[in-house]
Amino acid sequence: MRYDYDVIVVGAGNGGLAAASKLTAAGLRVVLLEKHNLPGGVASSFVRGRFEFEASLHELCDVGTKEEPLSVRRLFTDLGSKEDFINEKNLFRTIVTGENGYDVTLAAGWDNFRQSLLKVCPESEKSLDRLGALLDKTTEALAYNDRKKGRPNKLVMLLKYGKFLISASHSLDDVLRSLGFSYRARMILETYWSYLGVPADELNAFHYFEMVRGYINGGAGIPLHKSYGLSLSLAETIIKNGGDIRYNTEVTRFIYDENKRVTGVCTKDDEYYAKEVISNVIPHNVFGMSGKGNVAEKDKKLLNARRFGLSFICIYLGLDKSADALGIKDYSVFIAQNASSRRQAETEMGMYVVNCINVAVPEATPEGTCSLFFTIPVFTNKTMKGVTADNYKKFKSDTAAAYIENYEKVLGVNIREHIEEISVATPVTFANYFGAPNGTAYGYELSGWDGVMARILSTGNELNIKGLTFCGGHGAKGDGYGVSYVTGIEAAEAVISRLTGKNDEEKQ
Ligand SMILES: Cc1cc2nc3c(=O)[nH]c(=O)nc-3n(C[C@H](O)[C@H](O)[C@H](O)COP(=O)(O)OP(=O)(O)OC[C@H]3O[C@@H](n4cnc5c(N)ncnc54)[C@H](O)[C@@H]3O)c2cc1C
Repeated sequence: MRYDYDVIVVGAGNGGLAAASKLTAAGLRVVLLEKHNLPGGVASSFVRGRFEFEASLHELCDVGTKEEPLSVRRLFTDLGSKEDFINEKNLFRTIVTGENGYDVTLAAGWDNFRQSLLKVCPESEKSLDRLGALLDKTTEALAYNDRKKGRPNKLVMLLKYGKFLISASHSLDDVLRSLGFSYRARMILETYWSYLGVPADELNAFHYFEMVRGYINGGAGIPLHKSYGLSLSLAETIIKNGGDIRYNTEVTRFIYDENKRVTGVCTKDDEYYAKEVISNVIPHNVFGMSGKGNVAEKDKKLLNARRFGLSFICIYLGLDKSADALGIKDYSVFIAQNASSRRQAETEMGMYVVNCINVAVPEATPEGTCSLFFTIPVFTNKTMKGVTADNYKKFKSDTAAAYIENYEKVLGVNIREHIEEISVATPVTFANYFGAPNGTAYGYELSGWDGVMARILSTGNELNIKGLTFCGGHGAKGDGYGVSYVTGIEAAEAVISRLTGKNDEEKQ
């Protein structure tokens, strides 16, 4: 059967949900097509026994408080979502067990963050002042860039935001060094590197600061009803605005006209046509569904040259005792054998993160229970080397046993006896679930020639397919909840402007 809409959105992940919410609020006729039976993509939860497990989210940055909302909270309010967030007072605890190791907890909010670092690295006072100034300059430079719609005056950038430009072209480790931080302070400050998937000696400093300032200023934001609560609230917005959502509807082909313009998509049984299509699906997969000759050779080459971002092994535990009773006090703890992010990325059991949602939201599991969520970054194919269909189950249980044992040893707690439910996800699970190559949850790795600045500067010059706009964690600004929502809004705004001839500011 044939259906006609103003806009088709493919994929109900964070980007697709935000895009469809914004488009429907603008009064456009929209259909959102999702291959699964529920919204959210990886922003979802699943049930085992009496536990509902958060599938992916540790924390969101740029949330802020009700009194002082930051961009992500504002975005949800603007879209009419009723979902609320908790602000965790600590950003993270980081434990390095090897020689010269440490056990440090950094607090949220600039003053508390500063104090918590000074407690363990008192020599950092001046360096922290310099870092604070640089973060402020980064905020100002980005606000200026936004005001200029991504086309800033180069002279203004050079004269006013020179320091920002320097940090934007150096690695995180180089910039922290130049700010005068000691080795120990650098290692502690670099803890969040794994959220971006590139070791600190290679990770673009600006990219890191852009994320970290959102965490320091806005705290670690945790939705009251897990990430699925956020996804559901956006799906409800879309329906309330008159949009259609079709679940269990996998797009199998993108339809192009003779001018290589995307005019619609095919599913197994139906054809959908629209003036514009937004894809929340990673470009690699879209190209695979585009037929011969429709996609420019240069774009194919570009995608082939890009590296996929990291994936994860996740261990989800439902425990039959409360966090308090088990002596679990931290919402988020990073555990590593070695302080250096390079070593963490290259060695087995280099680092992992464990979250206990009950510390932030006590009622997240039934009374008298709690859950733990282990996230183990998988940077190279080495981790899964030798894993076959025959030994896959054993690989999962051996991996879970090793990490649980290590966690018990490092934290001095006993959890094994209290495991009521356990589930293990690997890159294979993520690849199966949302079809992303290698099971990457992080789109394309942002590093080297393909770093965040290079991508931002080439916005508009790549993946220029008429009638098709991409959104999601695989775009210019990288991955993450906040980023993927923002890309959805930006894609919707571009489409609204093309279809109605008006942008948001003109309409207000
Ligand atoms: C374990 C884990 C932990 C993470 N932790 C954090 C964190 O703490 N903080 C943070 O900010 N970020 C985190 N992330 C990253 C964050 O989850 C992602 O960057 C973000 O969710 C990506 O959203 P997206 O818009 O790209 O959509 P995706 O989640 O990639 O969704 C794409 C959607 O498209 C659908 N789809 C695919 N193909 C088709 C098709 N052919 N037809 C129809 N539908 C299709 C999929 O089913 C899916 O619903 C984590 C990710 C993982 C995996």
